[in-house]
Amino acid sequence: MFKIAVIPGDGIGTEVTSQAVRILKKSSQILNEKFEFVELKAGGIAIDSFGKPLPDETLSAALSCDIVLLGAVGGPKWDNLPYESKPEQALLGLRKSLELYANIRPAVMFDALVESSALKQDIVKGIDIVVVRELTGGIYFGKPATITKEDGIRRGVNTMTYTELEIERIAHTAFRLAKSRNKHVTSVDKANILHTSMLWREVVSGIAKVNYPDVRLDHMYVDNASMQLIRNPKQFDVILTENMFGDILSDEASMLTGSIGMLPSASIGTKHALYEPVHGSAPDIAGKGLANPVASILSAAMLLEYSLKQEELARKIFRAVEIVLNEGYRTADIVSKGTTTLTTEQMGQRIEAAI
Ligand code: NAD
Repeated sequence: MFKIAVIPGDGIGTEVTSQAVRILKKSSQILNEKFEFVELKAGGIAIDSFGKPLPDETLSAALSCDIVLLGAVGGPKWDNLPYESKPEQALLGLRKSLELYANIRPAVMFDALVESSALKQDIVKGIDIVVVRELTGGIYFGKPATITKEDGIRRGVNTMTYTELEIERIAHTAFRLAKSRNKHVTSVDKANILHTSMLWREVVSGIAKVNYPDVRLDHMYVDNASMQLIRNPKQFDVILTENMFGDILSDEASMLTGSIGMLPSASIGTKHALYEPVHGSAPDIAGKGLANPVASILSAAMLLEYSLKQEELARKIFRAVEIVLNEGYRTADIVSKGTTTLTTEQMGQRIEAAI
């Protein structure tokens, strides 16, 4: 039996997560395996019920489940709270406590949606990239991180640090993933300037040579990578990079493919894993049945692939999404001329039927 913590959160988080759970229930029937869903509160809804964004009950239950499916947190109701009390603190708390060091974000262009991209069709058609971002090190976590005052002048300081071990484990994640795909890793750094990047490049090259001789490894400076993602995105298979560069490049890569409502993600640690759509709680469309549930449903497919090792079923879910799009069904965010608009729930039902 698999125990899955479900944290719908706020806004459209609840609407899209219920469609992902629908697909997981269907998956449990197909696999003839029992899934137990433990629904938990985090974000704004937890502030309203428990007075804090990540209640102890939620954290300990999530830790005991190993697998977490998250919706999204936040909304205008909680925007004016102090930084430490905001709903978004729940995400940071979960990532840190579950020690999720690898963030995996696929950016796949569905043929039916090439028109929704901001780029020319011949550039984006067929895009299939995964960004593997280091999530618990680098400048976001390095110490000192302060604002000091000397002689009346304020000074902001952040520190970028990486140990060999941190680089090694994320590199293994990227190379293993590449082995199951087109066997090509592009490691992105700034090794012409940053010492952390010089070490990064050395460690990644060593791991490639010793452990993954069948995977092609290229190195690219981050400024060039941001340009190449727009110029010729199809040259990439797996992009491996550190925390801050990955934060920026994964958003850039995801937007090549059209709507943010289509983009899933996985955050993996040694013991735990968390799956969530890339988008937020979208207060502007919450409660109206307008949200696209595909990002959340594909996050559930990633859960099946990475945590439960059900690659075939994950592929089937991806294919079901493709079929429904090819049949001309759309949610409001990806609607185009000649297509049929569905609500969030209807889209979930269609995908379930296509599986
Ligand atoms: P957002 O992703 O919620 O919305 C951005 C735009 O995309 C909106 O116009 C929204 O309607 C649209 N959109 C997003 N998801 C969609 C979907 N599934 N289907 C159709 N349209 C979709 O980002 P935002 O507006 O900057 O943030 C809203 C709230 O969400 C804020 O409180 C923010 O802090 C929070 N947030 C949470 C997460 C998370 O929980 N992981 C991530 C980002 C933002």
